[in-house]
Amino acid sequence: MATPMSDQEKRKQISIRGIVGVENVAEIKKGFNRHLHFTLAKDRNVSTQRDYFFALAHTVRDHLVGRWLRTQQYYYETDPKRVYYLSLEFYMGRTLENTMINLGLQNACDEAIYQLGLDMEDLEEMEEDAGLGNGGLGRLAACFLDSMATLGLAAYGYGIRYEYGIFNQRINDGWQVEEADDWLRHGNPWEKARPEFMLPVHFYGHVEKTREGPKWVDTQVVLAMPYDTPIPGYMNNTVNTMRLWSARAPNDFNLQDFNVGDYIQAVLDRSVAENISRVLYPNDNFFEGKELRLKQEYFVVAATLQDIIRRFKASKKGRITFETFPDKVAIQLNDTHPAMAIPELMRILVDIEKLPYDKAWEITQKTFAYTNHTVLPEALERWPVQLMEKLLPRHLHIIYEINQKHLDKISALFPKDMDRLRRMSIIEEEGVKRINMAHLCIVGSHAVNGVAQIHSQIVKDQVFRDFSELEPEKFQNKTNGITPRRWLLMCNAGLAELIAEKIGDGYVKDLSQLRKIAAFVNDESFIRDVSKVKQENKMKFAQYLEKEYKVKINPSSMFDVHVKRIHEYKRQLLNCLHVITMYNRIKKDPAKHFVPRTVIIGGKAAPGYHMAKMIIKLITSVGDVVNNDPVVGNRLKVIFLENYRVSLAEKVIPATDLSEQISTAGTEASGTGNMKFMLNGALTIGTMDGANVEMAEEAGEGNLFIFGMRVADVEALDKKGYNAMDYYDKLPELKQVMDQIKSGYFSPKQPDLFKDITDMLFKHDRFKVFADFEDYVKSQEKASNLYQDPKQWTKMVIINISASGKFSSDRTIKEYAKDIWGVEPSDIKIKPPNEPREPVETREAAMKPKSKGNLL
Ligand SMILES: *Cc1c(COP(=O)(O)O)cnc(C)c1O
Repeated sequence: MATPMSDQEKRKQISIRGIVGVENVAEIKKGFNRHLHFTLAKDRNVSTQRDYFFALAHTVRDHLVGRWLRTQQYYYETDPKRVYYLSLEFYMGRTLENTMINLGLQNACDEAIYQLGLDMEDLEEMEEDAGLGNGGLGRLAACFLDSMATLGLAAYGYGIRYEYGIFNQRINDGWQVEEADDWLRHGNPWEKARPEFMLPVHFYGHVEKTREGPKWVDTQVVLAMPYDTPIPGYMNNTVNTMRLWSARAPNDFNLQDFNVGDYIQAVLDRSVAENISRVLYPNDNFFEGKELRLKQEYFVVAATLQDIIRRFKASKKGRITFETFPDKVAIQLNDTHPAMAIPELMRILVDIEKLPYDKAWEITQKTFAYTNHTVLPEALERWPVQLMEKLLPRHLHIIYEINQKHLDKISALFPKDMDRLRRMSIIEEEGVKRINMAHLCIVGSHAVNGVAQIHSQIVKDQVFRDFSELEPEKFQNKTNGITPRRWLLMCNAGLAELIAEKIGDGYVKDLSQLRKIAAFVNDESFIRDVSKVKQENKMKFAQYLEKEYKVKINPSSMFDVHVKRIHEYKRQLLNCLHVITMYNRIKKDPAKHFVPRTVIIGGKAAPGYHMAKMIIKLITSVGDVVNNDPVVGNRLKVIFLENYRVSLAEKVIPATDLSEQISTAGTEASGTGNMKFMLNGALTIGTMDGANVEMAEEAGEGNLFIFGMRVADVEALDKKGYNAMDYYDKLPELKQVMDQIKSGYFSPKQPDLFKDITDMLFKHDRFKVFADFEDYVKSQEKASNLYQDPKQWTKMVIINISASGKFSSDRTIKEYAKDIWGVEPSDIKIKPPNEPREPVETREAAMKPKSKGNLL
């Protein structure tokens, strides 16, 4: 290049950010000014940054609407098989930039905003995260929506419009403090309420036997109000719908007959009904058997199935037959959270549509598929029968009936095997009687999948072995993925462009093409450019930390990042022990060379998870000692990253050198954070767990820092008996670290502060932290050594990026489509809309009968 380009010029050049036509830019500016004036009722004298964000969001939204209506009309007319993704969580994060990218508007908007004298990044920062999820499971649902739209599938996400998403985390004196996430306070420009499609959901009551069969009567009704959010595909004019339900009390709520006198109280009591969609339960991988949570689960299921059946019937001319229902409808259950959809569909087909039981069951099984997300026993949903009987009595009967026929089948195949019947029953009889929701899902679905090879194997061979013996063909694997639009183009434009310069932009829709960059692994200038992009990302993140949290970090140190929900199985404690080990080594021999590191740990602890909260306090306490020790200087820093969430992941992941994925083998079902880091040019230090196994397979095991026990080793150790003291006695550095924590080195004012942690690690550590300590520390030394050779490090980074193509959620969704849903991706680019749609020219034309329309 003759003269260096400015960033602005560079951005304009790149096709993956869209075309900057003069008309485009003028149109965006016009839309922006119009919305500022008419929608926000402001002028530039009194506008805030937030007003500008909303003006731009509305302008971009205008470009979605025509495509959205056309896509839905197209589905109505062509009536393809619909895919319904049911999830209690959609962890969407921000929408503005993603929409601009998927519509190819990014460059035009950048230019327009620049010409208006504003800063795009400042505006983007004004957007609240839609934090309707806890972690991986909810973020997976969001990535899948992007991929389903990009692949042109007639797909819908169905969930709950929580008024409060995942709490905001503040750190106060080193402790986690929760704040309510009032994300709708300033309004949500991306949603459209559809009150005309409101539906009733019933609770409580009892079952009456009538001549026409069982009847569920005397119920309490809550209304489900749909809110639609457009989901644009990448550059294909497809816009799908995410429909989230909000609970509304009926207007006659508590005002019937007996209660006439207490009008005021009746109005106040409406909020009780509306509490159903008030707040997301903040547990990750943990079952909390609360009545309100079961209400949420049934609420989304009941409203969604009515909607699905309404849409199914609307596409039928003449007599409705449910025979073809599974040819037109696929329903994917994201974990067991929406499992009540199975008895609910049975109830609709048998009680309301009057189908014979066996026919209804066949249709139900063909319609549903279930994704298992965890094998941790504390996370598996097991609802008390008593609670189910009170809240959903008819469904309990149906579940009993399903179970009876299921057990009959097993007794016929395995006569007198009582133990097998007990193990496989949907109803658990020992102790409090409970419904095993995973068993219900397996029995009621035609496909069951795990989320990474190793996890699917454990599902088949261990946790649900009896079931896979019975129906081996039901069990599948669908390794998770992430959308490369958000997790590369959007969060790491520098790297995305660098790759596009080398191999073109085809990789955005076909991530396997990243293999082509392996050809440049010895290209000196490419190595330099990759390393330069990383350095820029690190500088930017360091500036962000300094501005937001007043912490200064050394941008030439290795950024060693461990961000995910805080959980014992994810072993943030192992990382913490390593930090203290590095600290002790520096202190022991301060003159010795040390490869500088900044250890960044972040994640939310469930508010009721005591041990997770103590882990946060330990990390911050270690940070207080390490960060303020003059002997250490800027060679080692420990930062606890406050309020880890989607928008923060987008900042920290592109700035990471070393990605920590260190769960005990056999505990992390897949992980998706691991994939985001790999795609963004971090190297992984990790165990052979979840999708790490497949990452190692794709990149070559030698290109990750793999350490520790494999699943078989963990099993062997369990057999032998894990004894933490063995390792403590054998490893002097581990002993020193534990002695320090125990004696109050990191909590001098309260020496026994971390007693619960040390007791756990010594006496009842389910996740065997000490067993992997030695190998982990060695593996960390290897990482440090390689980091001293920037060129070799970056070569390994390039190999990893080139091997990360498998982990696109496009690949995952193609597999679901083919192996489970029976639908085909479509390349058809729906005709771009004329905006606004053809105006009605004459009174005669206006009075012409309209087509029935898509009924959304
Ligand atoms: C991807 C993601 C996760 C999942 O991370 P894991 O390391 O797979 O547990 C959790 N939270 C956020 C905000 C994410 O973006």
